[in-house]
Amino acid sequence: MAKKDKVILVTGANRGIGLNILQRLDLDGYTVIGTSRSDDGANLISQQIKNSDGKGLKMDVTDQESINLAINRIQEGYGTIYGLVNNAGITEDNLLMRMSDEQWLSVIETNLTSLYRVTKSLVKDMMKARQGRIINVGSIVGVMGNAGQSNYSASKSGLLGFTKSLARELSSRNINVNSISPGFIDTDMTKALSDEQIDNLTKNIPLGRIAESSEVSSVVSFLLSEDSSYITGENINVNGGIYM
Ligand code: NAP
Repeated sequence: MAKKDKVILVTGANRGIGLNILQRLDLDGYTVIGTSRSDDGANLISQQIKNSDGKGLKMDVTDQESINLAINRIQEGYGTIYGLVNNAGITEDNLLMRMSDEQWLSVIETNLTSLYRVTKSLVKDMMKARQGRIINVGSIVGVMGNAGQSNYSASKSGLLGFTKSLARELSSRNINVNSISPGFIDTDMTKALSDEQIDNLTKNIPLGRIAESSEVSSVVSFLLSEDSSYITGENINVNGGIYM
């Protein structure tokens, strides 16, 4: 199957790591669909796609109706989705003592329940096709924990369990399910950190720097390719060695 016949859906693709993943997969030659919560974001995504007739669509990963609408449009317009990159995610940091229900629930809904909602909405079709790849973007915080991020950490640890269970459920249908756990990547999410925090952080990173989004996208590209055909249920840390 030629790459342009493989339709890849990337959630949260209007900025940050998701946008870089979209650009990389477009360069690779896939037909890429990216989603954003806003019309402006969807338009921006459409403009970024240069090599296929892929486009941007509006989708809120916490809203089942919005997910159904987007998935139906993709399936009607492009056919079965070959690859899903569950990338959309948020942080709402606070110490547990001070955390509100809203902060807890919004992070769990956006980062974890979204995996259930988006994946379930398209996996039946993927199973019928007897091929596919699902890649979940986790975080180093889901692997090693971080003070002030119990909600985020729980969501990303949950993602690891979800990935392994789904890998077992879908293996007989030739669908590989893996996760990537990035360390600190230069995006809006890390722009909230002060220079002092970044300096302290980088002191503890063996490679001595935070990463570019492209260093995550290249791993997504690998996990979609035939080169990774025997890898499933795996988590790949992309963290400069901060956790080994
Ligand atoms: P970002 O720059 O803040 O972008 C987040 C993306 O997710 C945006 O496109 C955003 O859309 C989208 N999004 C948020 N809530 C959504 C919702 N309810 N429905 C649909 N889309 C939604 O974040 P990033 O740094 O690129 O992070 C991308 C992924 O990598 C996340 O899962 C994050 O947890 C993970 N990660 C990031 C880092 C890091 O250091 N940056 C490290 C480890 C893991 P809007 O523009 O509409 O808000």
